[in-house]
Amino acid sequence: MRITIIGAGPGGYETAVAAASKDIDVTIISDGPVGGTCLNHGCIPTKTFCAHAQMLDNVRNAGEFGIETSAVSFDFSKVLRRKEAVVEQLRGGVEFLLKNKKIRYISGKASLKDNHTVVVRSADGEVAEEIDSDYIIIATGSVSAILPIPGADLEGVITSTELLSIDSVPKRLCIIGAGVIGLEFASIFNSFASQVTVLEYCKDILPRFDTDLAKRLKQTLSKKGIAIETSAQVQAITREDGLLKVSYLKKDKEACVVADKVLMAVGRKPAIESLNLSDIGLDFTPKGIVTDEDMRTNIPNVFAIGDIRGGMMLAHAATFEGKRALNAILADMQAGGPGKGKAADGIDFDIIPAAVFTCPEAAVVGLTEEDCKARGIACKCLKSFFRANGKAVSMGETEGYCKIIISEEGRILGCHLFGPHASDIIQEVAALMNKKASISELSQIIHAHPTLSEVILSAASN
Ligand code: NAD
Repeated sequence: MRITIIGAGPGGYETAVAAASKDIDVTIISDGPVGGTCLNHGCIPTKTFCAHAQMLDNVRNAGEFGIETSAVSFDFSKVLRRKEAVVEQLRGGVEFLLKNKKIRYISGKASLKDNHTVVVRSADGEVAEEIDSDYIIIATGSVSAILPIPGADLEGVITSTELLSIDSVPKRLCIIGAGVIGLEFASIFNSFASQVTVLEYCKDILPRFDTDLAKRLKQTLSKKGIAIETSAQVQAITREDGLLKVSYLKKDKEACVVADKVLMAVGRKPAIESLNLSDIGLDFTPKGIVTDEDMRTNIPNVFAIGDIRGGMMLAHAATFEGKRALNAILADMQAGGPGKGKAADGIDFDIIPAAVFTCPEAAVVGLTEEDCKARGIACKCLKSFFRANGKAVSMGETEGYCKIIISEEGRILGCHLFGPHASDIIQEVAALMNKKASISELSQIIHAHPTLSEVILSAASN
């Protein structure tokens, strides 16, 4: 049995390793370094920047802990060097994994010739190789979306990829889009002492998140000195006297922000171009490749996983979609061929935790109150606050709260956290939701004291 995987991000490479462990002959093709966007230009380098930002904030606030420091100096070139070292170390780990499992790795641009053949081209466009296999998994990820406005192509208007390799901290940074990427970079560059302005089209930041959480996060970030303009319709970007001017409309009034750099953070779009999908009759829309719940496309031996499907664009979602696809392929093998099997695993794709690595962090899983209303589900909210949590008070990080959404029968439907280490704490609720636990079962679990996780227990006991 042979599988060809296109794309070596967390969807592609994890699936390659899992398939090779089942004695499947795996080839993986990527036109970028292994690890994909997540490892090279996304989650990992961003979290390294976050760690530097947090360290800077801690040093600046050290006086509150009786630690006096001299003037704080900050060498951004060392941030870049450390970020590169972190990425290289982890990339080396992935390369080792692929080699160790005897997975064939090919560097090049892949497209589909037919449902069994992948063509790989070298950088000069020459066909380097044609690979035949029983199954193909497309995991090519996504690219930054660019607003179709005048000036979007000006020098200095950049995406998150360029911002992660910028050679100096911009004095003034204007960010278009207050989604996950926009807010994480707003928080980081605010700590790096940039003057940050965020322009968001919708009436709230993080439009798909719990409204209450979004409002509190906006207040906190504004208090730290980040200017956030919501309901701002960006019209154009121009260059004037060496600076970038971002013009926008707010309540029909014209306004502008002047900046040294402009970050375009208005979402990501699936990387479907150049795969030759139309020619082989594979179904896709501008949102991404269409699949069933097994990640199978309309062509039974071709699967798609991760951002390319245009669903939850999260590394961990891609990894688990890869597990599902592999389970469906293994089921096909049992049932007698492509399209005959059905994955029978317990992965619940309605329970995908997500985090926003601002300072403090936000993290969510499951339904919001708004989702419940839209679906006609009667629900109740249970809340607790970090200001009443012993560990948070000791740490001097009391900003934030926990909101658990439960059904009338007491089933946990969702959790929305904002505060220190929210991204780590949310996992407990995700685990309980997977096990269909009730709120009273949660409240019977002994939580260690004093821990930040007690914020969950406090909400459950309210
Ligand atoms: P997003 O969809 O999260 O946010 C984009 C924001 O831009 C939205 O708030 C939207 O209203 C706004 N916007 C759109 N058009 C605009 C306009 N014309 N003017 C002003 N604002 C406008 O997208 P993103 O932040 O670019 O992130 C892309 C994807 O990557 C998301 O799916 C996100 O979940 C994922 N991601 C996740 C993490 C994480 O898990 N921590 C980190 C980074 C990215």
